[in-house]
Amino acid sequence: MAKVRLENIKRKFNNVTAIENITFEIPDGQFWVLVGPSGCGKSTILRTIAGLETATSGNLYIGDLLVNNVPARQRDVAMVFQNYALYPHMSVAQNIAFGLQMRKVDSKVIQQRVETVARSLALEHLLERKPKQLSGGQQQRVALGRAIAREAQVFLLDEPLSNLDAQLRDDTRAELKQLHHNLGITTIYVTHDQVEAMTLADRIVILNQGRIQQIGEPQSVYAKPANRMVATFLGNPPMNILPAKYKNGNFLVESQVISCPMRIRDVLRLSEGQVVDLGIRPEDLFINESQNEEIAALTVEVKLVEPLGRETLIRAGLPSSSVQVNIQQAGVMRLHLGDRISLGLDLEQLFIFNST
Ligand code: ADP
Repeated sequence: MAKVRLENIKRKFNNVTAIENITFEIPDGQFWVLVGPSGCGKSTILRTIAGLETATSGNLYIGDLLVNNVPARQRDVAMVFQNYALYPHMSVAQNIAFGLQMRKVDSKVIQQRVETVARSLALEHLLERKPKQLSGGQQQRVALGRAIAREAQVFLLDEPLSNLDAQLRDDTRAELKQLHHNLGITTIYVTHDQVEAMTLADRIVILNQGRIQQIGEPQSVYAKPANRMVATFLGNPPMNILPAKYKNGNFLVESQVISCPMRIRDVLRLSEGQVVDLGIRPEDLFINESQNEEIAALTVEVKLVEPLGRETLIRAGLPSSSVQVNIQQAGVMRLHLGDRISLGLDLEQLFIFNST
């Protein structure tokens, strides 16, 4: 186990800066997830830590050791790729043993370790099979087994679940979390999937266009996003964004009036006539059945009702924008397409962003 520290890491490919100003320290034994849209630089960071890319500038430490110039195979990290990268002509046992054989570990020790690892990943009965005789989930476990067998200080996982179908992905995600709990090995995990990020991480690092947007515990980043990108990236369905104009202490949303909460008025000092974007999460909207005029609400037209069992997703329209609502309220099923309803907003959960 080891801590991992990145100091001002930058990587350019010709004239394109893939990542810049990347600075963070992962304490020993924690599980961190790098998350962001495709092309934001997640894999480049991971590959730089692995030693498969060289940083253009900046310093990288594993434990207390500066590893900028240490080749990949001497870094004591184990990487698991999206496509598992198993050797097709080798059995499961040989795949797991390979890294140890390369290090000339004693064959008795190798055999013992393969057995232990296989047991911990429920692979004992598959040891003689070749990768192509395994399901995607089993191949993924072998790839993990290979990493575990090496007893690396750091695990690097690049979208390891993306080739699995939905059910298996959920199961394997839970297994990964359990495995980390048991082994306690520092783990850096790359994904574009915010559910994986939220459920697995001790800390998430949200990236966009090669730069860190925010680092924090998943729940606190969700509750207090640092900017609009983070706010709209985390959450499914995503946060609603409604253009609004500030006027006389209120927001005008397509000619409907929402009062501006004091906490926002005091802090943001909006100027009269200023155009902003209001952000509100689908779960912070509710049907204002009593039509209570004290409640901040918008009148909208129901466009789509999607019952999902415990909750119902509603798409509703204002004349020129639309909102998604996630509701766990009784009475929702009585809604019909085309109904005009009063949609309440929890003003405590209202976000304000600069208009783009
Ligand atoms: P992500 O993993 O978030 O999808 P990447 O780290 O793969 O993003 O890529 C970040 C940026 O760097 C992208 O613009 C990508 O096109 C560019 N990039 C990555 N690898 C190379 C490379 N070997 N040569 C040129 N550009 C690259």
